[in-house]
Amino acid sequence: MNIPSRAAIIAGNWKMYCGPMQASSFAQEVVPELGLLMHQYPHLLSILCPPAISLTAVREVIDTHLFPRIELGAQNMYFEEKGAFTGEISATMVRELCTTVILGHSERRTYFGETDEMVNKKALAALNHRLRPIICIGEHLQEYEAGKTGEVIRFQVQHSLANFPAQYTSQVVIAYEPIWAIGTGKAATAEGAGNVTQLIRQLYGEMYGGDAASALRILYGGSVTSANISEFVAHPDIDGALVGGASIKSDFVEIVRKTIEVMQQ
Ligand code: PEP
Repeated sequence: MNIPSRAAIIAGNWKMYCGPMQASSFAQEVVPELGLLMHQYPHLLSILCPPAISLTAVREVIDTHLFPRIELGAQNMYFEEKGAFTGEISATMVRELCTTVILGHSERRTYFGETDEMVNKKALAALNHRLRPIICIGEHLQEYEAGKTGEVIRFQVQHSLANFPAQYTSQVVIAYEPIWAIGTGKAATAEGAGNVTQLIRQLYGEMYGGDAASALRILYGGSVTSANISEFVAHPDIDGALVGGASIKSDFVEIVRKTIEVMQQ
């Protein structure tokens, strides 16, 4: 069995689907199935990221079963610790229930005006509270078509991932999510995504050194399904996937199963 040095991650971003009741019943369906898979292969984390209002419901299901390596993640948080920030949640609040938080998703950047600077502040707050940030970066279709992917990625890495304390650099997870591939059914090729994840690792190494770059986990996200996951996770520079639409279907279990099949080869 080929044991990767970086444990793979399959994270499911449920987006704005599943309130507490629906989230609980979906979790009751998938958690036992994921649990069986997790017992088969120890070098994989599976992270469920429901809407904030449903985190407690999913936490309860995970805690009932106590399977290893099934974790809970939030989809966003604010960088301030507390205060008059109506509608927001802080890292301390997220940490009560979760190990992980998705930050800078392109939907947050596009619809809610999140900038690299804000994403960076959130990432620093997450790291300081021992939360694992999954920081999303990726280019727009026009940038991709204009051959500007490398330039955009360089800017986002340098600005979203700046000033991390040395002791936390290996806890960071990056999701490379080309915006043109999110929710469109048009996934990148594994080769194309792999070229970008190699660039991200190189840039991270320039900022934090070779050890941090080797420990960095970089996921691919964008129309991942059980039909294409194997190609992505077979790439040596892709450490798993951030799955959107397919994560609130039973296909998520199939994605985890296929990932394990590839990792065990
Ligand atoms: C996402 O929400 O991060 C995502 C990649 O969505 P989808 O898998 O639906 O493209």
